[in-house]
Amino acid sequence: MNDEQLADASEASGLSGRTAVVVGGGLAGVTSALALADAGVRVTLLEGRPRLGGLAFSFRRGELTVDNGQHVYLRCCTAYRWFLERIEGSALAPLQERLDVPVVDVARPEGRRLGRLRRDPLPVPLHLGRSLATYPHLSLAERAGVGRAALALKGLDLADPRLDAQDFGSWLTAHGQSARAVEALWDLVGVATLNAVAGDCSLGLAAMVFKTGLLSEPGAADIGWAHVPLGDLHDRLARKALDSAGVRTEVRTRVTSLRPDGNGTWSVQVPGETLRADTVVLAVPQREAYDLLPDGALDHAERLLEIGTAPILNVHVVYDRKVLDTPFLAALGTPVQWVFDRTAASGLRDGQYLALSQSAAHDEIDAPVAALRERYLPELQRLLPGTRGAGVRDFFVTRERTATFAPAPGVGRLRPGARTKAPGLYLAGAWTATGWPATMESAVRSGVSAADAALSALGRPRPRHLFEFEEAA
Ligand SMILES: Cc1cc2nc3c(=O)[nH]c(=O)nc-3n(C[C@H](O)[C@H](O)[C@H](O)COP(=O)(O)OP(=O)(O)OC[C@H]3O[C@@H](n4cnc5c(N)ncnc54)[C@H](O)[C@@H]3O)c2cc1C
Repeated sequence: MNDEQLADASEASGLSGRTAVVVGGGLAGVTSALALADAGVRVTLLEGRPRLGGLAFSFRRGELTVDNGQHVYLRCCTAYRWFLERIEGSALAPLQERLDVPVVDVARPEGRRLGRLRRDPLPVPLHLGRSLATYPHLSLAERAGVGRAALALKGLDLADPRLDAQDFGSWLTAHGQSARAVEALWDLVGVATLNAVAGDCSLGLAAMVFKTGLLSEPGAADIGWAHVPLGDLHDRLARKALDSAGVRTEVRTRVTSLRPDGNGTWSVQVPGETLRADTVVLAVPQREAYDLLPDGALDHAERLLEIGTAPILNVHVVYDRKVLDTPFLAALGTPVQWVFDRTAASGLRDGQYLALSQSAAHDEIDAPVAALRERYLPELQRLLPGTRGAGVRDFFVTRERTATFAPAPGVGRLRPGARTKAPGLYLAGAWTATGWPATMESAVRSGVSAADAALSALGRPRPRHLFEFEEAA
């Protein structure tokens, strides 16, 4: 938005005297801060860590800039795409022209076998028909069965609360899916997007992901990812956008308590300072939100503590030569899940840097680096023949023990919306009730919802043209 539009928004809304504090500088908080500032509210954003970006960040390791974990998004992530536009980062995180995922199975008796999940330029569901019909990792009967289950999934009503109580694994079994079909297709996609195997996953969330990604628009599952370090987007560019929207951003500033003043304003305590504001958006993880929420602000606040968490492990390997000739691939028949080429984004000048993204890594999240090295280097030799003669220049891991909320059956009931019972206090975060699993998309949606709720309470609904994104089908 340019200065003139900003002035218009502020003047038209009459909110220039209104103030908000947003607590938490992850994607949810940054989004809320931008949305409120764009509508003319004076915003202060407080982040405890030295940088913005929350769970999606980068750090330096020698000559490399490393992401804490590989992040991807899909074309159907319309809110995250809006966010990228808003921070002028879209060109740095482009989408594939058309979904194309190489899937390598290393456990076939006849040897390593490559299949592809890709789409054709045809309407739904034909766009995936040819890919499924020729997918070599399933038998003919399994492929037909997958088609039938996909149609049954399409028929599920996402608004039906009963779906949340069921688990996806049992539903797949009841719909004729073999263990192999679950492993080679449903979990291949589902573990990476939901951070849980089908048996540990709410049918409601799984149906949402598969329906939106694979059965809505033909291009919905085209994959996008940052071609630069995540910090360039979620910290550097986000900070620039916040600065030009007039947001006061304070990092290394941890909020220790929130208190209503009794006159419609809030006191927000940080070490050495008390900030006052008409509106507070609490955009921190669920446990921290529970600790900061004033008594009575939420019915059943204790439910926030029942929302489980799930880990993601990233294994980083720097080889002395090129060993992978696609930007990424997915693997079967090995503990390796997804492998990404991080070379260009990390700034590495020679050799190749791969990151293995290992979701739902409950069994390995605390394993010593030496044990992970012993396990994964031979697996990479099975998967990528080029690694066999290659030297390993560096091997390290990044562990995110609470990477996402656990998408377990029943979790929908535990996720609160943006509004609280305390006037002027709103919740945001990927874990709130967005209908999405814990993703960047969910975080941005939650940030917009919190800003929307705050603006309508101030009597000034969000001007539609300011931050509009298409609703996913
Ligand atoms: C390894 C990994 C891989 C992932 N892969 C993907 C992916 O491929 N695609 C995808 O869409 N999503 C992915 N995700 C999930 C995605 O990163 C998150 O859902 C999203 O970033 C969450 O944003 P958020 O703003 O809701 O929360 P957070 O990012 O948790 O932000 C909350 C912020 O609040 C701050 N904070 C906490 N307490 C206080 C306090 N008292 N005062 C001030 N600040 C405070 C924290 O420091 C943090 O910065 C992945 C996550 C991880 C960890």
